Amino acid sequence: MTSPATTAHRICPFCEACCGLELEIEAQQVVRIRGDANDVFSAGFLCPKAIGLKDLHDDPDRLRTPLIKRDGQFVEASWEEAYAEIERRLPPIIAAGGPNAVGTVLGNPVSHKMGLSLYFPRLARALGTRNMFSASSVDQVPKMLSVGLMFGSWLAVPVPDIERCDFLLVIGANPMVSNGSLWTVPDFRGKAKALRARGGKIVVIDPRRTETAAIADEHHFIRPGADVFFLLGIAHTMFDEQLVRLGRLGQHAAGLAELEAAVRAYAPEAVAARCGIDAATMRALARTLCSTQRACVYGRIGTCTQQFGTLCSWLIDVINVLSGHLDEEGGSMFPKAAAFAANTRGAPGSGRGVISGRYRSRVSGAPEVVGEIPLTCLAEEIDTPGPGQIRA
Ligand code: SF4
Repeated sequence: MTSPATTAHRICPFCEACCGLELEIEAQQVVRIRGDANDVFSAGFLCPKAIGLKDLHDDPDRLRTPLIKRDGQFVEASWEEAYAEIERRLPPIIAAGGPNAVGTVLGNPVSHKMGLSLYFPRLARALGTRNMFSASSVDQVPKMLSVGLMFGSWLAVPVPDIERCDFLLVIGANPMVSNGSLWTVPDFRGKAKALRARGGKIVVIDPRRTETAAIADEHHFIRPGADVFFLLGIAHTMFDEQLVRLGRLGQHAAGLAELEAAVRAYAPEAVAARCGIDAATMRALARTLCSTQRACVYGRIGTCTQQFGTLCSWLIDVINVLSGHLDEEGGSMFPKAAAFAANTRGAPGSGRGVISGRYRSRVSGAPEVVGEIPLTCLAEEIDTPGPGQIRA
């Protein structure tokens, strides 16, 4: 007799969007995965990665036990055997090479696993290694650094108030597919449609015609990696055409004269060729941002994972400040923490502040940020002999 189908609700473990899954299970097998329409974070949305979860789960190559290398071959082992192996081999490696001889790498799902969230920090403290790597450094660390320096907390990331916004400028982001990255947007498609239905406008800047570009009012192709010139051109125009209107942010903003001087050389006419967007378009976008009551700029991974990632991340928030849209309704707002937590720390108005660059990676000299070395340094830290080489 086959057991009746049951439904289980879980979250997708792949990224911070935490989309809700509805799993149909028969005879202990997942037979269907759908988006959970009642999930408050995703409202039924799933990206293709979650649809592939069943294949991943059933994949015969998925690791189901620890593996230990014996005679050059990985062989399956029990957890007891794995822990015994660690106990046998790890202490001598640390004794010989010091704590940095151990490297740790965290993937996205760590944020969604109670056990890892609770116990990994303790393991990291016990190891004492500086060779800590995670997916963050190939994703959002530039944004964390810029908001840390600007607002005083690594996680004080303002996001568009899309439900009240009338002009949304999206740069290097694809919320139609990501469900909003660093900005969880249940039903982005529906909210974008509503924005346009009330007379609002969405403009996308991206080297690719993304799914978000396809539903936007305008899409402007930009040369890959040239976002910084586009953003400098927008900021320049705001000063040049006397569009700056800080409003109540005036009492919190510092260094306006230095900023004006810093962007002076980056007139849209001077940077148009670098970014592949004409000067008239840049000036028009700057004017629209400043003349629309409820508007903001949102940028994401395309503005982070590139040569000028931190500068781009900072300029996005600078433009939201110059146009008077930071922390304003319909602009770019700071989300409130869910419960029993603060969304920033330290003194009001300045935050606690952040420190980076306390140490550098051994081979390339990359500075530490948020207690991590860039993941791109991992291979060379394993391959390059010398004191501090990762051996485990
Ligand atoms: S956006 Fe995709 S990968 Fe991320 S949680 Fe949602 S379904 Fe999973």
